[in-house]
Amino acid sequence: MRLILLGPPGAGKGTQAQRLVDKYGIPQLSTGDMLRAAVQADTEVGKRAKAVMDAGELVSDAIVNAIVAERIDQADCAKGFILDGYPRTLVQADAVESMLSDRGISLDTVIELVVDDRALVGRIVKRAEDAKAAGQPVRKDDNPAVFEERLREYYKKTAPLTGYYYAKGRLKTVDGMASIDAVTAEIEAVLAAAAKAR
Ligand code: AMP
Repeated sequence: MRLILLGPPGAGKGTQAQRLVDKYGIPQLSTGDMLRAAVQADTEVGKRAKAVMDAGELVSDAIVNAIVAERIDQADCAKGFILDGYPRTLVQADAVESMLSDRGISLDTVIELVVDDRALVGRIVKRAEDAKAAGQPVRKDDNPAVFEERLREYYKKTAPLTGYYYAKGRLKTVDGMASIDAVTAEIEAVLAAAAKAR
């Protein structure tokens, strides 16, 4: 199964992707996690991405497309994967199309978690508090000031993907304001319906 999870920062993509990993045994490919690992390891990519990420802006398409293209060729992606936080621009969405068609594979579904913006800042603040309480590092961009920029970037560059996938007949929407369990159940229903349609 190859799936894209769309939605603004704080929509719950990571949480839901993690649950799907457990259920379907396919990896979650989070470009945010991969970039944070690169920053942590101080690689060339990490050095180039750090300031951009700290400011809440998007890292260049060339960098993220290259990271994902390399990642999907790894053995654990053979049965499928969940793209979380990628694609985030129309250029990236086109890159996904060519990456998959070059490999003779295709996307199964694109699921958008639809949320109320007003709830998002609260979720991000809570995520930072939870990480702190658990003794985990707090993401530098999980604060209200940077979050505003992340949301602006989302509307400018990522929100158009909803129309892009809708036009291709691939978009499914799920109410991301429901409880975590209810969102998971709705996603699973969408996936089951997609599997039946194939
Ligand atoms: P996330 O963990 O998905 O919220 O991503 C954290 C940050 O990493 C974003 O604010 C961007 O700076 C960067 N990032 C993650 N994924 C992408 C992407 N697909 N395109 C560009 N930048 C990205």
